[in-house]
Amino acid sequence: MLNIVKVAEPEDIKKFKKKHKPQNWDDFTPEIKSGIKKNILENEQTVNGTQLCVYCERKISTENSHVEHVRPKALHKFPNLFDKYENMVVSCDLKNTCGNYKGSEYDEKFIHPIENDPADFMTYNFATGKIVNKNDSLKERVDYTCEILNLNGCRELIEARKTILIQLNSSVDEGAGFIDYVEEFYSLTEAYKSEVLNI
Ligand SMILES: [Zn+2]
Repeated sequence: MLNIVKVAEPEDIKKFKKKHKPQNWDDFTPEIKSGIKKNILENEQTVNGTQLCVYCERKISTENSHVEHVRPKALHKFPNLFDKYENMVVSCDLKNTCGNYKGSEYDEKFIHPIENDPADFMTYNFATGKIVNKNDSLKERVDYTCEILNLNGCRELIEARKTILIQLNSSVDEGAGFIDYVEEFYSLTEAYKSEVLNI
């Protein structure tokens, strides 16, 4: 999961809210939603030149992603946060992980990508490609977060991380610089650098 540093809310979105006083997320026009997404992707979720899903860190674009309310905007959760820019990130559109999988599930155990630095909580098992807690006291929060996003249960995701790990391992053996070319899975690459390569 990425750690998101929010930038200021764009003026056109502020103006839209002031003028139209939206009452729920459906009152935002497709153009405004798309502007929000583009702004977040470009300014908050571009890592080494590549736009990544906040949760799974796969490569995304405005075409295959959606605005994700970290604290769900569902009526029984946090309906007042539907228009709060500080609560918005961008998730991939895959059905079996991330924002779509999470739906309106949430409690305060969730590792919040804006309020927490996920790297303080999570690292990886470099053999299995699965996310693991950094220490036992964090297990409950890491397990809950991975469970509601399905970050350890999605086979394609695990296989994709393992493919990167195989390439990283062979790159190290051969002295090649593959690590500089990894586009997806930023936190995996960073954990590998610090824990395996000690750099
Ligand atoms: Zn994702």
